[in-house]
Amino acid sequence: MTVPSKTKDFEIAIVGGGIAGLVLALALHNRGIPITVYERSAKFGEIGAGVSFTPNAVKAMKICYEGVYEGFERVCTRNMWSSKLQTYFDYVSSYEEGKVVDETIAFSTTTSLGQNAVHRAHFLDEMVKLVPPEKCIFNKHLINITQAPNGRQVMHFGDGTTAEADAIVGCDGIKSRVRATMYGADHPCVTPSFTNKIAYRGLVPMEKATEAIGAEFAQNAVMHLGKNGHILTFPVAHGKTMNIVAFHESDGNWEDTERLTKPGRREDALRDFAGWSDNVTKLLSMCEEELPIWAIFDTGANPVPSFVKGNVALMGDAAHATSPHHGAGAGFCVEDAAYLACLLQSPAVQTSEDLAAAFQAYNDARLDRGHWVVQSSRYLGKMYDWMSVEGNDMDKIATELRKRNAIIYDFDVEGGIAQSVAELEAKLGKSGKK
Ligand SMILES: Cc1cc2nc3c(=O)[nH]c(=O)nc-3n(C[C@H](O)[C@H](O)[C@H](O)COP(=O)(O)OP(=O)(O)OC[C@H]3O[C@@H](n4cnc5c(N)ncnc54)[C@H](O)[C@@H]3O)c2cc1C
Repeated sequence: MTVPSKTKDFEIAIVGGGIAGLVLALALHNRGIPITVYERSAKFGEIGAGVSFTPNAVKAMKICYEGVYEGFERVCTRNMWSSKLQTYFDYVSSYEEGKVVDETIAFSTTTSLGQNAVHRAHFLDEMVKLVPPEKCIFNKHLINITQAPNGRQVMHFGDGTTAEADAIVGCDGIKSRVRATMYGADHPCVTPSFTNKIAYRGLVPMEKATEAIGAEFAQNAVMHLGKNGHILTFPVAHGKTMNIVAFHESDGNWEDTERLTKPGRREDALRDFAGWSDNVTKLLSMCEEELPIWAIFDTGANPVPSFVKGNVALMGDAAHATSPHHGAGAGFCVEDAAYLACLLQSPAVQTSEDLAAAFQAYNDARLDRGHWVVQSSRYLGKMYDWMSVEGNDMDKIATELRKRNAIIYDFDVEGGIAQSVAELEAKLGKSGKK
């Protein structure tokens, strides 16, 4: 597809080049909307771990830009058994006080697309290939935003340089600096909150995993539930690797809120999951000896009051950082990007004067859904760890989970965007200010 030549009289700065920033960059660039991405690191990069996308996110990828979806398809891994191609996760109960549990599948969740997982770095590499290099500026750590006398936004970077744009989209993650400049450093929404969960993450060769726990549980997505913790696994890298994430209730506060990881060891994980099923012990035993401990933070205690202020907007984790229990945070980045790109593409949005209305329409459409997923994910974290009213009753867990999942997977992304664009056009007039 050829990129349409410049279609708008404004330029958008995207701060941060993670999944949110890069998908937005591709969605805007391929609509002929001028962009520049400012990334604080020397190059784009993601950690070596898995991330999975649900049907709503896959639909949103196609809306953003077909190339995003094609890149995703190239690196996507699904459940490896054909009988499980619609299964999202099989759920097993992996803990019983004082007993060795023999794991069997208690229930399964399904989606129209089953499980769709990627190795984060592989997916990001696919996106990076598609973004024109001249649109990306590295080593630009945003510190502050001010307004020029002509109304343009001025970004101030850590290296003492500045750059201007008509509008800024903060895609700079959970500790967003853009959010801090919008609300002031002392506003509660600036500081993310510890959800009291920690996680251990591992990638192990699939051959080894299959030998250890058997083909069915190794080669398809499984969620092991128990007291104060849960472990999820799914295949990535076209089935060559198994992604493991083990969540556990923390036994104390996270002292250093500046750092979201601290050094840990495999023994720590084995101690946390002592007395669980043999499969769980085997999974953790396969992880690296040095196993960093991740603190799970979110924006749930102090949600951001609005994702926009004038010509500055927040997207992805900068707007609504969620704990990972719904497996939806990255998918919501893509949904956000699809909304913003379609709103900005509307003929009603022509000059920088129209941007505030477009951003407001984005906020109106995304705020409640963004905040909901953060709270619902917190609930799932408790439910999976048998700390909610459902207790260890797997039937009750299944019922509650299916109800919440449907809100994510069955979301009508196209319909929602069409409505939002129509409302904006009604406000601005079909081809710019009424
Ligand atoms: C354990 C775990 C498992 C998860 N699993 C899933 C899953 O299965 N499915 C799912 O959908 N989601 C999942 N998520 C959530 C998902 O990872 C995030 O929602 C998503 O990666 C957020 O992307 P982002 O681009 O908004 O932020 P980030 O990935 O944090 O990217 C922010 C970017 O901005 C840059 N940056 C930061 N500050 C500045 C600055 N001041 N100036 C310039 N650049 C800056 C950073 O260097 C980075 O490149 C999981 C999260 C965790 C922790």
